[in-house]
Amino acid sequence: MSFPADPLFNSHPRSFAENLYVYPVLSRRAGGISLGINLNRDKFCNFNCIYCQVDGKSRQEPRPREDSKTNLDIEIELPRLAEELNRAIEEFTSGRLFQAGRFHRTPESLRRLNDIALSGDGEPTACPKFAEAVAICAEARKRHHLDEVKLVLITNATLLHRSRVQQGLEILDQNNGEIWAKLDAGTEDYYADIARSAVPWRQILGNLQASAQVRPIVIQTLFMRIHGELPPSEELAAYIERLREIVAGGGQIKLVQIHTIARQPTESYAEPLKNAEVDAIAERIRCETQLPVAAYYSE
Ligand code: SF4
Repeated sequence: MSFPADPLFNSHPRSFAENLYVYPVLSRRAGGISLGINLNRDKFCNFNCIYCQVDGKSRQEPRPREDSKTNLDIEIELPRLAEELNRAIEEFTSGRLFQAGRFHRTPESLRRLNDIALSGDGEPTACPKFAEAVAICAEARKRHHLDEVKLVLITNATLLHRSRVQQGLEILDQNNGEIWAKLDAGTEDYYADIARSAVPWRQILGNLQASAQVRPIVIQTLFMRIHGELPPSEELAAYIERLREIVAGGGQIKLVQIHTIARQPTESYAEPLKNAEVDAIAERIRCETQLPVAAYYSE
């Protein structure tokens, strides 16, 4: 299988100008430009997903597990983050972003800034300065009067219980924030096969439940073929049950995003689903949970 199909959308390089932390991407899912904030330049993550599409992730040595040291080895320079974000917003608002380079072909309808997204090359909440980074994003959003622009946290939900992460979530909540939390399985065994992490499955489910009780969250799920096999029907049933449990426990799910592999994954036995397969899974989840479900394809 070759990737990507359309570099305008499928290529999400973390490099832009001389920036270390801020990278604009054109996102179909966002329906416009998303300003990504990469707090994990060392590519630290406490997951090691078989489908991870972070460049170079597969070439990494295994990293420390949950609760051992995080990405302290590449300290975030907060003033530089603030300066890069300010400059990137000015590039967008002035229109310079679209005058040359890879955004030159951006369709007119997508020349809008949808969000500032804490995502990047690893798990953003593992950054020791996560809360300070969220504060910088919130401040930039206010200073540039980007009232409609969302602050998005894309997370594997493993560390949402930590107090310094909670501080960041509070800032997010006050600034048109959204949490897009990963849930790629319905059972512990499937989770173990996909995420290859030491973080207990129950901890993730507990964090999703607790977060959804405080504010509506977006659940982001990637389904794929593994060794040529579709996700088993009983795994989908268990996944649907996990969603129902969140809602039954008083949690609010704003949207379920179903997507598949779009770029070269870590493991070659992980392959994208066809569009019709993504649609069929999304439709089943929609019917059996009554939740809003959006489907995204590999091309
Ligand atoms: S959680 Fe994200 S960054 Fe971490 S290994 Fe999985 S896909 Fe990669």
